[in-house]
Amino acid sequence: MELACLDLEGVLIPEIWIAFAEKTGIEELKATTRDIPDYDVLMKQRLRLLDEHGYGLPAIQEVIGELDPLEGAGEFLDWLRERFQVVILSDTFYEFAMPLMAKLGFPALLCHKLEVNADGRITNYLLRQRDPKRQSVRAFQLLNYRVIAAGDSYNDTTMLKQAEAGILFHAPKNVIDEFPQFPAVHTFDELKQQFLAASQIHNG
Ligand SMILES: [Mg+2]
Repeated sequence: MELACLDLEGVLIPEIWIAFAEKTGIEELKATTRDIPDYDVLMKQRLRLLDEHGYGLPAIQEVIGELDPLEGAGEFLDWLRERFQVVILSDTFYEFAMPLMAKLGFPALLCHKLEVNADGRITNYLLRQRDPKRQSVRAFQLLNYRVIAAGDSYNDTTMLKQAEAGILFHAPKNVIDEFPQFPAVHTFDELKQQFLAASQIHNG
């Protein structure tokens, strides 16, 4: 049995924080873990900025609802789901991803969760577990699935290593250089070919 695990942001949809920052003009929301390596510090800053600019969850979801999946992503996902069971492993939050998941036909998604009060204010965030993408792949392997995984960034590399086959998609050059063991491709057509090449059931 084979399972395809996909990263979400940068693979199927835009980077949500960056797209949100561009839509709203809140420049400081463009900071990523490259600027602030401590994720907790980064998230607290993001939540503070949302508060300061008066964005509760409904307003955030409205902005995110105006975003679209990356060009070709929907067609690719349909293609993949015909050939593999697909689970999306992401470090985003359900509350942010849902408007975009609706546009992708609600595929299975494992990610994190926000705490929101009755007024819609985001009060905290709950990470599902440490190293969640790799732990998910490990769990699927315990269920006797052979996992083929694709992602674009550092937070995907432990998942790619844990999987039986890992593929870099849309990855920046520094990630490609640092992880030469993974094939690196940039179009959905190439990604389809990589999934087929890594598959045992489609290589009979
Ligand atoms: Mg990503």
